[in-house]
Amino acid sequence: MAKVPFLTKEKAEEIIKTYPTPFHIYDEKGIRDNVKALIEAFSWNKGYKEYFAVKATPNPFLMQILQEYGCGCDCSSMTELMLSEAIGAVGDDIMFSSNDTTLEEFEFCNNLGGIINLDDITHIDLVEKACGALPKKMSCRYNPGGVFILTNGIMDNPGDAKYGMTKDQIIDAYSIMKEKGVEEFGLHAFLASNTVTNEYYPELARVLFELAVEINEKTGVKISFINLSGGIGIPYTPDQESNDIFKIGEGVHKVFDEVLVPNGLGDVKLCTELGRYMMGPYGALVTTAINEKHTHKEYIGVDACAVNLMRPAIYGAYHHITVLGKENDPLSCTYDVTGSLCENCDKFAIDRNLPKIDKGDILFIHDAGAHGFSMGYNYNGKLKSAELLLKEDGTVKLIRRAETPKDYFATFDCFDIYKKLVKE
Ligand SMILES: *Cc1c(COP(=O)(O)O)cnc(C)c1O
Repeated sequence: MAKVPFLTKEKAEEIIKTYPTPFHIYDEKGIRDNVKALIEAFSWNKGYKEYFAVKATPNPFLMQILQEYGCGCDCSSMTELMLSEAIGAVGDDIMFSSNDTTLEEFEFCNNLGGIINLDDITHIDLVEKACGALPKKMSCRYNPGGVFILTNGIMDNPGDAKYGMTKDQIIDAYSIMKEKGVEEFGLHAFLASNTVTNEYYPELARVLFELAVEINEKTGVKISFINLSGGIGIPYTPDQESNDIFKIGEGVHKVFDEVLVPNGLGDVKLCTELGRYMMGPYGALVTTAINEKHTHKEYIGVDACAVNLMRPAIYGAYHHITVLGKENDPLSCTYDVTGSLCENCDKFAIDRNLPKIDKGDILFIHDAGAHGFSMGYNYNGKLKSAELLLKEDGTVKLIRRAETPKDYFATFDCFDIYKKLVKE
C-alpha cells in the first residue's frame, strides 16, 4: 500500500516559512481517529484503559489529546512522572512500569498515587522502604522466559529480556504482597515488540489470563486488572498491512470469555500501554535536501540527522521517505540519504530507490511519531528540532521549540566559560 504523507508540498512550504526544517510534525486528526478506534475496540471490557507509553512521545500537548479520551500515562522515569503530573494525570491515571528503579522514583510515583508495576520480586522491599508501606494497589510484571512464538511465526525472546519475574517469583510476590496488606492486584507482561499481526495481543492475553487463574488458585489473590502493555506495531514498510484494532479487540474478547469468565474472573479490567501504535504513523520528520554527493555511491545530504530520529542508525530500521511534490515521479535514482553526524550509521535510507532529488526538495520521513524525537540525543553538538502539531483545522501549532546553542550549553551555566559560550 502506498504511504501517503499527511502534508502536501504546498503546506510544508508554508510551514517552513515560520518553522525552518528540520522539524517533527504530528497529525492531530490521525491521533484522534486512532485513539477513538482503540477505545471502541475494547469497549466490551468494562474499565478498559489505555496508558499512553510516555517514552514514545513525551510531549504534554500530545499527551493531553489522548487524555481527552480517558487515557492515562505509562511512565518509567522521574521526568515522565513529572510530565504526567503536569497534565493532571495522577492517581490511577499513572501506571509506573519501570525497571532498575531508584527509591526516589518509587517514592515520587507513590506520592502521585500512581500504580507501581513491579519489575522484580526484590522490589517489594524497595517499595516498602521508599514509601513506608506498600500501596493498596500494585501490579507485577511477568516474564515467561524462553522464546515467545506466535502462531504466525513472529517470535521474540523473553528469555533474553531483562524485564519481569519468573512464574515462581511472581506467585511468591503476590503471596507476600497480600500478606503485607495489598488489596488490589494487577498483572502485566510485554513479550514482543512492534508486532504487525492481529494475533499478538490475543496470544499474550491467553498467557496472562491463564496465569491469573493459576495465581488465584495458588495464592487466593484475585487479579483485578491485566495490562497487555505495548507491542502493537505499525507498518513501517509500504508492503506491510496495518493491524486491525477491531480484530485485535475481538481476539482478546474471545480469550477473555474462554479463560477468565468461566473461572470467576469475568470482572477483570484490561489496560494497555501502547506507545508506537498511538503516535507512530501520526508523526513525521520533515527535512530539506541540502547537499548531493557523487562518489562511490550517490548521496543526498539532508538538514536532519540521527539526532532527530535514531531508529535507522541504531536498528537499521526502515522509515519510508516521500519527496514532497514528487509523489508520482518514477523512482529513477538510488540514494543513501544521510545526516551530518561523523558516524557512518547516520543514514535515513541506504540504497533507497527514490525520485531524482534536487537541492531544496522537502523530504517527509514517515512514521517518526513514536520513539522518534524522544530518542534524540546531542552527539556532535547537534540540536534537537522543534515539534509542531498540525491541527484538525489545518493550522499549525508549535508544541516544542527547537533547541538553541544556549540550551546545549546550559549545564555549563555554573562556570565562567558559560558567558563566552553564550556571549552574555
Ligand atoms: C516501551 C514500552 C511500552 C510501549 O511500547 P510500544 O511498542 O511503543 O507500544 C509499554 N510498556 C512498557 C513497559 C514499555 O517499556
